[in-house]
Parts: sequence; structure tokens; C-alpha cells
Amino acid sequence: MADSDVLDRFTSFLRERRLPVTQQRLAIADILLRAPGHLSADDVAAELARKGQTVGLATVYRTLDLLVSCDLAEARDFGEGFRRFEASRNLPNHYHLTCTVCGAVTEFFDDRIPEIIRRTAAARGFVPAQHRLLVRGTCRACRKTPSVLARRPL
Ligand SMILES: [Zn+2]
Ligand SMILES: [Zn+2]
Repeated sequence: MADSDVLDRFTSFLRERRLPVTQQRLAIADILLRAPGHLSADDVAAELARKGQTVGLATVYRTLDLLVSCDLAEARDFGEGFRRFEASRNLPNHYHLTCTVCGAVTEFFDDRIPEIIRRTAAARGFVPAQHRLLVRGTCRACRKTPSVLARRPL
């Protein structure tokens, strides 16, 4: 998905804010925006290293935050003690089941969830700006192999 349009958008965003458009920032954007999943800053740094690029973790974090600021990416908190990032894919009402054993993330969609939040808030005169749903547990594969559970307790 990291076509040149998206990278152009990031480049314009950086220029508008008079932030340097560096090769490292573009490489980080390219990795995150191409990834189908949910990457941590460490995952991005590991991928950069695999490509032979040395980029400090602070730069990775800063760039990921900039991608979120310009709406190209979204930050997720799966309750792991660090954030993960995913490319914005125009997926409304998209939620996650996060396995605490193997880290697998399953995405699902359900319009009823935002509807419940909207109705509940409206009934109380509350205007919701955002909501977050965190579902942690054990995926089917991990439930089938209890030895894995024993090895990686959380
Ligand atoms: Zn699992
Ligand atoms: Zn997702």
C-alpha cells in the first residue's frame, strides 16, 4: 500500500511543518505502510536492520508518531505495555482480538459496538470523540497447545 502517493502525502506533511524529509523517515513510513499487520517500534527497527539501515529507536518512535499525526497510521494499545502501529486502511469499526500467548491479532468488524456506544452516550448527553475496545485472551491455536501456555506465561 505504500505507493508513492502515500509517501508524497507524508513528505508534504513533513515539509508543511518544516521537518526534515530524511531517507530514514521515508524508510520507516514505507515499512509501516506496506505491512499488513500491527508493528511495534521494535518490529520496525528490526526490519530496518534487516535492510541494512541503522536508525535509532527514538527516530523510529518519532516517525511513527508523525505518521499517526498525518492520519496515515493508527496507534493501537493491545495492553502489552507498548504501542503498535498499523497503516490506516479506512476500516471503520475495526476491532482486535489479541492473543497474550503468541501475540496473534485477529481483526473483526461489528457495527453494533459503535452503535451501542453512540446510544449509551446520547442517552447521557455525552458526546463521544473516540472509543477503544481491548480484547485480550488466548487464540484457538494456543488453546490447543497448553505447553506453549506454560512456557510463555503472562
Ligand atoms: Zn495464540
Ligand atoms: Zn488492525
